[in-house]
Amino acid sequence: MNEYVIETKGLTKSYGSFPALDHVDLHVRKGCIYGLVGDNGAGKSTLLKLLAGQCFATEGDIFLLGQQGEKGLLQARKHTGCMIERPAFFPNMTVEQTLNYYCIQKGVPGTKKAEEMMQLTGIAEKKRCRCQTLSLGQRQRLGLAAALLGEPRLLMLDEPINGLDPSGILEFRSLLRRLNAERNITILLSSHILSELQQVADIYGFLSSGSLIEEITAKRLAEKCSDCIEITLPDIEKYAAVFEKTFPDDSYKILPENKIRIMNPKHTAQTYSKLALDQQIYITGMQTVKSSLEDYYMKLKEGGMDR
Ligand code: ATP
Repeated sequence: MNEYVIETKGLTKSYGSFPALDHVDLHVRKGCIYGLVGDNGAGKSTLLKLLAGQCFATEGDIFLLGQQGEKGLLQARKHTGCMIERPAFFPNMTVEQTLNYYCIQKGVPGTKKAEEMMQLTGIAEKKRCRCQTLSLGQRQRLGLAAALLGEPRLLMLDEPINGLDPSGILEFRSLLRRLNAERNITILLSSHILSELQQVADIYGFLSSGSLIEEITAKRLAEKCSDCIEITLPDIEKYAAVFEKTFPDDSYKILPENKIRIMNPKHTAQTYSKLALDQQIYITGMQTVKSSLEDYYMKLKEGGMDR
């Protein structure tokens, strides 16, 4: 059985001669929450639209829930819930009418499911309000409720946190975690703000100018973004040689201006400075540098990350 719920091979979408998506190989494992990160215009919505069947690829293959080809994808999409770009609703319909309308469209009988999803997504109190009166955050909740109606095995959400207030973001994250853990729904969600996806995604894919530049687990990303210690000393090569012998489990990088950067340090700053003193190398500067996820993405885009 295929371990991926979504897999793409060489997926490419061009608008005229402009490649909005360029040979993307995406791997979304069953049961995960996958965070797709990318700047404005990186190609996130294009990728989600291709997966949802809202536009056609110029090149490449899509595998959804183990199915491929026109018929296979049509079948797989019946088990997929989507919210892509700003959800559009009939302005004069109420929230309740809107969900009942989508129930009919998706072949979901009765009104029980709509009621359950309104409760789950926190939009129930607005059930008698017309869609045109909803705030952006409320529209996002309604969009999610609509996406969940058909009991999807896969949920694809484009910038779902957009427009939510701080408590709404926390609620939304915990809802996604519950959907994932309790209903076993695999979730692919996008954002241009990495920190928004933090604490919810367990794997990240970084898109930049239409290319998927890295897929990395949250655990590995946290390791790569942990603190570094930077030491400035005159005889950097001598220090690096004893450093390697003394701390073989530590990884380091030599920087310009006689600096050594110890990544994810295994010892205290005092231990590293004592090593220098023992060799009669005098340290002229030492600092702990915090690396944020945003820094990581910026460096990755510039091609400067240590693997
Ligand atoms: P954002 O975070 O701003 O929503 P995004 O990562 O979702 O951005 P896309 O909407 O996928 O980016 O757009 C990717 C690129 O493709 C952009 O440069 C955009 O201008 C271009 N593009 C998207 N749709 C079309 C279209 N229908 N015709 C021409 N160019 C398009």
